Amino acid sequence: MAITDAEKTEHPANRSGLFVPDWVFFEPAALSYPLGEELYRRYKAEGIPIEMTTSHNQVRGIPGENDREKYRNAKRTLVVGVRRTLTFEPSKPSAEYALPLATGCAAHCHYCYLNTNIGTRPYVRVYVNTEEILQRAAQYIEQRKPEITRFEAACTSDPLAVEHITGSLRRAVQFFARQPYGRLRFVTKFHHVEPLLGIEHNKHTRFRFSINAEYVVKHFEPGTSSFQQRLEAAGKVAAAGYPLGFIIAPLYRFAGWQEGYTRLLENLHDQLSPQALDELTFELIQHRFTKIAKQLILQRYPKTKLQMNEAERKYKWGKYGKGKYVYPDEQAQELRSHLQQEIARLFPQARIEYFT
Ligand code: SF4
Repeated sequence: MAITDAEKTEHPANRSGLFVPDWVFFEPAALSYPLGEELYRRYKAEGIPIEMTTSHNQVRGIPGENDREKYRNAKRTLVVGVRRTLTFEPSKPSAEYALPLATGCAAHCHYCYLNTNIGTRPYVRVYVNTEEILQRAAQYIEQRKPEITRFEAACTSDPLAVEHITGSLRRAVQFFARQPYGRLRFVTKFHHVEPLLGIEHNKHTRFRFSINAEYVVKHFEPGTSSFQQRLEAAGKVAAAGYPLGFIIAPLYRFAGWQEGYTRLLENLHDQLSPQALDELTFELIQHRFTKIAKQLILQRYPKTKLQMNEAERKYKWGKYGKGKYVYPDEQAQELRSHLQQEIARLFPQARIEYFT
């Protein structure tokens, strides 16, 4: 079932840092959609091992001697399926609804919310029934109009990381360009923006990049594009006329965090083209973890430097009794004030959408 390292490096997409799966599973129903059929042909021609699975929710047979190995292999596994649940989850505070274009991500950010959200199914799922998903979005828009309805496409994955496989984001951007009452937004840690440049977006899609201080990128974000690559991509996106935003998440208190975040914002300020500053937004999210997340993170990344000491945090009650550990109020306030002050100094025209 395995493919050799030589084969992996030979693949052109692999050389450019794009995700190339080691294994692909297909739901039989996916093959009756043009995208499913195309992907089947593509991966067969490329010699990537293919198997069938009865459901994208229950993929069996991913190899691995132990849980850690199985986890790593699952992150290298692509599952092509049909999205059947067309009831969209809420996605506060960034949008009204989550737009489910994909689930899972091949990168290895230690703090990633997917560690728990899709805990036992860390493989990368893409859905071939994009048109049905978008038609469902149209119904939600219709129900709420004349209010604007916003959809977040990055709730369960980094959609840009699989765009070279599905082209779904491109379709979604073009769909939302035609929606007077619908808006799309998504966030990414990748730089492969080319397929989305030069298409009609009508400024209805907000393109955000997730950025962080060097310390956080270096220690906790393996498998993503570098800060410099993300910044260059942001310049291209702004030049293509998209409304641009940055999410700084997780805001993390490491030794010297004030200087680290100031340096990040100064860097951004010095390198971002003036065109990118129009309509610029920031979203600020402090680091948080749950007990279950901590357990999974330590199991999957045993050498992580990520500090998750419950005694040093504040417990914040959440929905359904599921709480999480955030920074104590005073420390959260310090983070918030520092970021607000530096954003106001360097980007006076930008809007901070929220701090949470
Ligand atoms: Fe998670 Fe985003 Fe990192 Fe992927 S890039 S592992 S979705 S935080």
